[in-house]
Amino acid sequence: MQVANNTVVSFHYKLEEVGGDYKEDSSDGDPMLYLHGHRGVLPGLEDAMKGKVAGDKFTVQVSPENAYGQRNEDGIQRVPIKHLIGRKKPNVGELVTVNAKSGKVNATVVKVGRHTVDVDTNHPLAGKELKFDIEVVDVREATMEEVSHRHAHGPGGHQH
Ligand code: ZN
Repeated sequence: MQVANNTVVSFHYKLEEVGGDYKEDSSDGDPMLYLHGHRGVLPGLEDAMKGKVAGDKFTVQVSPENAYGQRNEDGIQRVPIKHLIGRKKPNVGELVTVNAKSGKVNATVVKVGRHTVDVDTNHPLAGKELKFDIEVVDVREATMEEVSHRHAHGPGGHQH
């Protein structure tokens, strides 16, 4: 079966930042699972998956626009430490969750003061070009329940 809208794809991936240090590798755990056609993975990766079958291996390079977007320089903000989930003073480089008016926001700490921290709310991979090595493990028809939930169910996907 080929990857098309409303198929469930499971795959292993190796991800690296082009020209950078960031790396991820799924091969130690369960394959990733997503419902095709519902933006369950990055747009650039989803487009490259179309038409693939189980056993296919391929490499795709994804521009920031088709991954985590460009960096927004307004994304650096000063927030009171008491607005951080956990309310403890973090270290520079630590990932924190900010309780903002608009909801919970994940951010990276760039500076620590006495009562405030400067955080960068950009995704750590914003503005980065990414390279994926993909191995398609399985492609199956989605269940009606999965289509109505707009995500895949099972290990590596949503379990609820
Ligand atoms: Zn569901």
